[in-house]
Amino acid sequence: MPQKTKETPMMEQYLEYKKQYPDAFLLYRVGDFYEMFYDDAVKGSQILELTLTSRNKKADEGIPMCGVPHHAIEGYIDTLVDKGYKVAVCDQLENPADAQGKMVKRGVTRVVTPGTIMDKANQAKENNYITAITAHKDVFGLAYADLSTGEVKVTSVKNQLDLTNELQNLDTKETVISGNFPQKYLDQLRKYGILISKLDELDDNYSFDFSQISSDQEVDTVKLLISYLIKTQMRSLDHLKPAQSYETSAYLLMDHSAQSNLELFKNIRTNKKSGTLLWLLDETKTAMGSRLLKQWLARPLISVDKLKERQHFVQVFLDNYFQRSSFQDYLTKVYDLERLAGRVAYGTVNGRDLIQLKTSLQQVPEIKSILLDIGDDELTAFVEKIDEVADIRDLIDQAIVEEAPISVTGGGLIKEGYNDQLDQYLDASKNGKKWLATLKAKEQDETGINNLKIGYNKVFGYYIEVSRANIDKVPEDRYTRKQTLVNAERYITPELKEKESMILEAEEKSKGLEYHLFDQIRQKIKDQIRRIQALANILSQLDVLQSFAVVSEDYHYIAPEFVDKHELKITNGRHPVVEKVLSNNSYIPNDVNFDKDTDILLITGPNMSGKSTYMRQLALTVIMAQIGCFVPAESAKLPIFDHIFTRIGAADDLISGDSTFMVEMREANDALKNATENSLIIFDEIGRGTATYDGMALAQAIIEYIDKNVHAMTMFSTHYHELTELKSQLPGLKNVHVDASEENGDLVFLHKVLPGPADKSYGIHVAKLAGLPEEVLNSASKILSTLEKTSVHTTTSESIHEPAAVEPKPIEKVEEQPETVSAVEDDEQQLSLFPEPKVSKKKLSTKESQVVKEISEQDLMGITPIEAINLLYKWQKKLK
Ligand code: ATP
Repeated sequence: MPQKTKETPMMEQYLEYKKQYPDAFLLYRVGDFYEMFYDDAVKGSQILELTLTSRNKKADEGIPMCGVPHHAIEGYIDTLVDKGYKVAVCDQLENPADAQGKMVKRGVTRVVTPGTIMDKANQAKENNYITAITAHKDVFGLAYADLSTGEVKVTSVKNQLDLTNELQNLDTKETVISGNFPQKYLDQLRKYGILISKLDELDDNYSFDFSQISSDQEVDTVKLLISYLIKTQMRSLDHLKPAQSYETSAYLLMDHSAQSNLELFKNIRTNKKSGTLLWLLDETKTAMGSRLLKQWLARPLISVDKLKERQHFVQVFLDNYFQRSSFQDYLTKVYDLERLAGRVAYGTVNGRDLIQLKTSLQQVPEIKSILLDIGDDELTAFVEKIDEVADIRDLIDQAIVEEAPISVTGGGLIKEGYNDQLDQYLDASKNGKKWLATLKAKEQDETGINNLKIGYNKVFGYYIEVSRANIDKVPEDRYTRKQTLVNAERYITPELKEKESMILEAEEKSKGLEYHLFDQIRQKIKDQIRRIQALANILSQLDVLQSFAVVSEDYHYIAPEFVDKHELKITNGRHPVVEKVLSNNSYIPNDVNFDKDTDILLITGPNMSGKSTYMRQLALTVIMAQIGCFVPAESAKLPIFDHIFTRIGAADDLISGDSTFMVEMREANDALKNATENSLIIFDEIGRGTATYDGMALAQAIIEYIDKNVHAMTMFSTHYHELTELKSQLPGLKNVHVDASEENGDLVFLHKVLPGPADKSYGIHVAKLAGLPEEVLNSASKILSTLEKTSVHTTTSESIHEPAAVEPKPIEKVEEQPETVSAVEDDEQQLSLFPEPKVSKKKLSTKESQVVKEISEQDLMGITPIEAINLLYKWQKKLK
């Protein structure tokens, strides 16, 4: 940063402001540019690809500097904020000409941060949340707001895990904390890459509705948030709605990993919306509807009454196709009312925005009448609540011209007839122009110069222009020469100057008056913002419900029935997204049954047969049901779930420093500790991330724990066939398998879920499908056959369940010991899937022969798995 040399007054002023915003890029207005200095300039020039120069180049220590033209500032701010930086804009508060040689007065007029950016046209369908958090005796207050829509909510969470989950689920762009926020929590948040902004002093100088907040800590948290918004925005925040408390337990809970594993919003591979549940369900017509759908998906309901109400509306939209179509047509013409309301309050609204607001409001009477026409009592009651906000619609209609300009200061905005005074000015200006046209004709006539023109420029005002060829015809007594051009001369006359002042005065005054009137209109609309927001809320709900009807119709979904007991029965259910992606009805439907005595479905079957798809299918069906949508099945009876836990796929949580297996165990732990009998647990191959026996032992112990203590409905897929034996001891466990058959050595996936365990696994067949080299496949077949002959068959659950006795070090994955092939290569191949490889016969060493002898003489059925592992370890050591 700055050296301790004497600064110029301007740099002193700059440093003064920079001191106040140390964590932001300070864009400092100098003439037509916004400049950055020192470190800001070095970093800013790299990020924004600007040329880095130096102020005071002659001095040894020039000050690094770079700048952007003032008219292009918004694009540069967007780039910086998009990359997660904050920007403080320091403007000139007076015309430099008025400063009379003194320092121009400047001040920071706004601070733009990732959480408070207002206009992101390309992200209309996304909320942009900023959060504030407080910690009090290990309870966290969490408030969030979307500045562009005015939504403010607050809750309390009881541990750090829930806090990070909620922050991640909200996809918060920035989190505000107070100066005394405990460091230990802060470090954890930073690990997740959450942008932290500190605010030391609260601002109490505002009116805000705290009446719907339930605790003092929540009030403090909202105050922190609002104070930060005031500090950064420096303008009206009247559009912020009263903050509402919510309880996370009032919704179907899903932590962040469940949301991402189930691909609700982002495709895991592409990180895009395509291929997600949101993508499938989003047939909304407005950006507000799309945002609301996302909120509903993030927080499915647990109230059957509310769900039934939503289902009813979906059914009504399904039953009334024509009304639905015309409703959609009108809805398409409704702009983003929530964000328009935000811009009105914020002061950034322009004439075009108001025309959009009017157009949107003009659709409302039609929408109302179409929906009332359906004649459904519940829909009628809902629709009758709609306030058309007709006064605002009429006001804009009377005042603002249809083709309004973007600028609100340049005139041409207010309609004729709206204001008498303005009409007079406009008349004067219009008449003046008519008069100029008459003057031109008169002068052409009198001088005989046919191409004589009347023009205007800022320096000379109105003038008469005569081409050089006609100069001799100019009446020099009346015309005063003002300017000489290459081909023409420009003149003024006393008569022209007199009219000019009248015309210009009228234009000037009319522009001023137009701006004043526009501001009045804006204020009137601002006073009615709550009504516009309420209308937006109803329209967006209806939009989401019609969207549910569209997808339910397109994909033949049915209304699920909610049952009040521990039972679940889905007939011919489908995975909605896979079904949509697969062409021509090739998805194979499957039933899911949990009767009152079943807690766990243990799913076996070959790789690629559809185990994961089957489990995700249930989770997505539950979520769809609990947002009020219809579901992909022929019939569905579902209980209301309180929480979905998932452990799917391999995910390293590198940010928090956890390995794949650690994440797996953490997620398993979360489910075992927090699931209730009303929860749904999806465990996709738990225990795969470690050595085989560790994994199997853990998997079995987890299943037993769920059966004994948790009783949550659980789907557990596994490749450990040994686990299917658990059925005999755990009455709450049911084996199912996904069917596949072998035809001429090739595997055929039937994708059909059937009762009972799978007969065998087909890993090598799947590897063949994936195109692995033949040599590898042949070798694997041999190894497999050896292992099948020599490996331990764990038949009883007790026998697996002795992990404590195992020395961790000696246990190695048995699959990783291909040396054994040569030791037994004379044995017949059991699996003749692949052509017999040409293996060169190698004579066994004495050691090897010894091992082979010991293996062949070993009574496998008479030893425990631990003993078997120890033997393996011994043999391996011998061979090495
Ligand atoms: P692995 O054990 O290797 O993880 P898996 O048994 O979990 O495999 P999935 O990933 O669920 O298998 O399914 C593999 C593919 O099979 C899916 O991508 C999908 O294309 C197809 N599939 C799964 N279920 C069905 C079904 N019911 N109907 C049609 N295709 C299906």
